[in-house]
Amino acid sequence: MERDLILGMDIGGTKLAVVLSDLKGNILRKVREPTEAEKGPDHVISKLIRMSRRLMEEAGVTADRIVGVGVSCGGPLDTKTGIVYSPPNLPGWDAVPLKSIVESELGLPAIVENDANAGALAEWMFGAGRGYSYVVYMTMGTGIGGGIVIDGKIYHGANDTAGEVGHQILLPDGPPCGCGKRGCLEALCSGPAIARRAREAVKSNPDTLILELAGGRIEEVKSEHVVEAAKKGDKLALKLIEETGWYMGWGIANMVNILNPEVVIIGTIAVAAGDLLLEPIRRTVRRMAMERAASAVKILPAQLGEYVGDLAAVSLVISNLDRLREAER
Ligand SMILES: [Zn+2]
Repeated sequence: MERDLILGMDIGGTKLAVVLSDLKGNILRKVREPTEAEKGPDHVISKLIRMSRRLMEEAGVTADRIVGVGVSCGGPLDTKTGIVYSPPNLPGWDAVPLKSIVESELGLPAIVENDANAGALAEWMFGAGRGYSYVVYMTMGTGIGGGIVIDGKIYHGANDTAGEVGHQILLPDGPPCGCGKRGCLEALCSGPAIARRAREAVKSNPDTLILELAGGRIEEVKSEHVVEAAKKGDKLALKLIEETGWYMGWGIANMVNILNPEVVIIGTIAVAAGDLLLEPIRRTVRRMAMERAASAVKILPAQLGEYVGDLAAVSLVISNLDRLREAER
């Protein structure tokens, strides 16, 4: 019988998911567990393997029905060897041979990819990027990750670090970034960065809904409070979102000039805030990017929401079906 199923693994800093899908990306079954990343790579990987076996058993599926395993994991990592190099959300993963462990434990070929790149592929395949050839994807959560998909293929660069859209430097003397530099887009527009700017602003403008939503405690202010307050028309929150839109717009204008994408897809906070954030981004891109490139680009919210991780893992296998089938012969 022809192999007709896919296993997908999504390794997050707090949650693990393993899914079983058909070759069209319909998720048939899913199991989730906390990552317990602090217990180190051996613990996490053996848990993933157990979850995979349990999932297959519950579904009554044997390994000979599975084409391959797509693994979406925090980078940096080497997509050829499948070795993971110390992702910030997975402490202790120093040169972990994830691909070869998964392959030998499950007896199936595995494709390991940086989660933001895999997310970009999923948005191209199933979400806001469908039908486009030149796609830039940006996550906007704890950090700002990203991926570039050209003609349905992830653009990896020389050693798998392309698409780090969050670490373009916008303000050389700006706030410190998790990468060790200063003034990166991520240090200005990630969830924690928006919260930090909000806490600063609230100090001199305490009469704001942001503070009320945070229970009156400045140190509790989060980006979600800013988004919620902005939606209710709070002036300070609107200003903070607008400012976030300018920074995002500068960064996206840089990318538009370099890559001339048809679409830039933005997830998480941009989805939650919608046009309140997307409109200032669009205005800024129109003003800052070269006119011809700016006229070609659409700036859209991501569509996959909470399913992005599952579909990210699965899309890796779907986009390599021919190669996997070939290798099987
Ligand atoms: Zn940075």
